[in-house]
Formats: sequence, structure tokens, C-alpha cells
Amino acid sequence: MLLRHTTDEATRRTALTVNPAKTCQPIGAMYAALGVHRCLPHSHGSQGCCSYHRSQLTRHYKEPVMAATSSFTEGSAVFGGQSNLLQAIDTIFATYEPDVIAVHTTCLSETIGDDLVQIVAKARTEGRIPEGKDVFFANTPSYQGSHITGFAKMVKSMVDHFAQPSERPAPRLALFPGWVEPADMREMRRLAALLGQDVIMAPDTSGVLDAGMEAEPSFYPAGGTTMAELRALGSCRASLASGPSASSLAVQALEGKTGTRYETVELPIGLSATDRWIEALRRASGMPDVPAHVRWERARLVDMLCDMQQYLYGRSVALWGDPDQLVSLVEFCIDMGMRPRYVVTGSSSRSFEERLAAVVAGRCPEMRVASGHTADMLLLHQWIKQAKVDLLIGGTHGKYIARDESIPLVRHGFPILDRVGHQYFPTVGYAGGMRLVEQILNAFLEVKDATCPEESFELVM
Ligand code: SF4
Repeated sequence: MLLRHTTDEATRRTALTVNPAKTCQPIGAMYAALGVHRCLPHSHGSQGCCSYHRSQLTRHYKEPVMAATSSFTEGSAVFGGQSNLLQAIDTIFATYEPDVIAVHTTCLSETIGDDLVQIVAKARTEGRIPEGKDVFFANTPSYQGSHITGFAKMVKSMVDHFAQPSERPAPRLALFPGWVEPADMREMRRLAALLGQDVIMAPDTSGVLDAGMEAEPSFYPAGGTTMAELRALGSCRASLASGPSASSLAVQALEGKTGTRYETVELPIGLSATDRWIEALRRASGMPDVPAHVRWERARLVDMLCDMQQYLYGRSVALWGDPDQLVSLVEFCIDMGMRPRYVVTGSSSRSFEERLAAVVAGRCPEMRVASGHTADMLLLHQWIKQAKVDLLIGGTHGKYIARDESIPLVRHGFPILDRVGHQYFPTVGYAGGMRLVEQILNAFLEVKDATCPEESFELVM
């Protein structure tokens, strides 16, 4: 019992977080930057921050994540990090030859008050940024927000820095995928193509963090949104934000800068959310109807849900993770007949509980929801101690609760440090929904096989 000191007594806390259900802003900024072609993320802070952020991403994606650091010492902490960053820009372009550097700040550089607008402008006027190369940045102190807000700010920065207004809009859609896996981004692109919609996806980590083994290894994999594509975001006819928490800032910035109208929908996870996402794509593409192949994929998911209803109906579930993922996952669980009893996110989001209430629509009155810095894994465990659930859905940090309480865990979201597959197999769209149902179903069946009495042990389902 690794968490044997946890009791069922959940006292009200205002200033203490125990085992947060989130991680720090720069991790999101770094992940977003990796979705830009030939981009080297740069952490403006101490080496420890950069090591932690890289290691989290490397462990989740099982790929080496490259990033540079301003490598602060005591001197930088006292006098500021300007000279470190200027030196870093010189060294990075000379040694690692990226097309672009994406700088994000950390707690330390923000506390000092380093002004990235001024430092990057100085680097530009001093000729430290070579012709055809670029530097953009986001302010991501981690004493506020979460990895999701860090991601959102870096994506907004891509729009602020690159997107150019155009007199002649192209029939393309600016698709902001939100924080999803590389495989999910590839799946979104595939679905958009089925609907005849040409897209610029920003960012796009497919082909970067799930890249294959090439005969000629490259420091920068082939994937990622190019700088030319980022500039062309402003010439898109419309934009679509997948997941308000991760993508709203970017589409709003794009509209403010270029007048590109936008629509924001929940992440296409599960049946209902995918229906709405596909319908938004159909509207954007101007197609009169959803293509037969997409309807066939939907029919397969519906068939699977009907066939497996007996195993899913009424089963209670606790979920934690990121707001965008949770809203769609909760809705999918209810669509499957399950009962989401606890929902926890460490990310503060004013609209989260409203969005959740909208998709639940009164179908699960027993559901308890917590968000913000005191919504942590301790609170979730205390709730589970009060009334147990049949299933856990969330990242790796929930494995301690799963082990102590003997509850099956379906790993979903970020981070997943102890399993593989999440970066390769999508969970968005109808096909992704089938993968989720398979994972949930198999988790229940594994428990049944492991715990049922011998006389009930069956060869078949
Ligand atoms: S919380 Fe702040 S100090 Fe800690 S790793 Fe994140 S950015 Fe660095």
C-alpha cells in the first residue's frame, strides 16, 4: 500500500497541492514548438527545468526530445538572462542549424523579469538571427497555468508571429488540433482529407515525435508545420479550434490579426464529440453531406457500442487529466452507458465545469467535479476511498491509486510514462473511439478473469 496514509477524509484546502493533476507550462510550450518543422525549442531558464521538461516528453513519446537552454547560473539569476539568451541564439543557429527557435520562459526568468520582446528584438537588430531564420517566443512561468496553457500560449505565439493577412483567402482550413498525440493529429488530417478539406495544421507533431527509423538519421525529422505554412494561416478561409482550452487563444488571435472567422468545438473523442467535429469540418468544406466512408466508420463504432453494451452499462469511472480531453471523454463514457463519478483536472479553466455540464446534460447527477490547483490526485484518492469506482481513466500518475485500490486503469492523456502505443494509435475520430472502447472493455475483462471464482472462469466472454 504505497498510498496507505490516504484516508477518506477530504478536508478543504486552499493553498496546498499534493500530487498535482497537471504539470508545468513550459512542457506544453515545448511540445507545441516540436510541432513546427525544423524548430528547436529553447528553455529560457536553468538547466534543471529544461532537463525535466525534455525527460517528461521523452518518456511519454519514447523519442529523444531535443531542446536548448539558457543555462542560468547564480549570475543570471541576479543580473538577468539577456546575455545568456543572446549567446544561446548565436550558438544554436551556428551549431544546430534549425530554421526557427521557439523560446519559452520558466519560473526563474519570469521572476527576474526578463523581457523577451526586447531581448529577441535586440538579437534581430544585432544580426544574430540569420537571413531566412526566425525566433518566436511565449511567456510561460509555471507558478500559473499548466502544460495546457503553456501549449495554448505557444500556439498563439505562432499565429501572432507568423500569420500574414491576405487579400485573397485560399479554400483552406486552419486546423488547430489541440494537445493530442501525434497519431491523433495524423488521424485528424486523414478525416479532413476524406471531407475534401485541405488544411494547414498548427502545430503538427506527427512525423516528429512518432517518426520512423530513416537510413539517413536527421536531427530534425521530416514532420511539423513549416514556417511558410504558419505564414499562410492568415490566408485560410476559416479556422477550426479543436478543444477550447488548448486552441481558443490561437483562433481568436488569428481572427484579430487577419479577420479569419473561426469555430471552436470539443476534441473529437468518442461518438458525439466526433459527430460535432465532423459536422464542423463538413460546414467548413462546403460539402453537402458527410462522405459514405466516414459514415461507415461511424456505423462500425455504433455497432461495437451496441454489441458491448452489456459489459459497459452502469460501470462507474473516475477520470483525471486535461480539460479538453476530459469533456469529450466524460461525454463518451455517458454515451457508452457508464457513470463518470469523479472528474479532476489540475488545470484551472473558467469554462471547464460549464462545458462539462453542457455535455452531461443532467444524465449523471452523482458526478463530482474539481478543477484548479487543489484538484489533485490526493483529492481524487480521497473521493475513491469514500465510494469506489469500477475503472480509472487518466495518466500514469494514477497507477498508485489503481494498485492500492485494485481498480483497473486505462491510461489516457499526458503523461503516460510506463506504456507504449498512445503516440502511435489514435483515440480521436470514430476509429479512435473503437480503440478506446477496446481498452476499456479489455480492462474490465482482465479483472473478471483474474478475480472471478473458479466455477465462473469462462473461456469465452
Ligand atoms: S515549475 Fe518552474 S522551476 Fe519547476 S521545472 Fe517548471 S518551469 Fe522550472
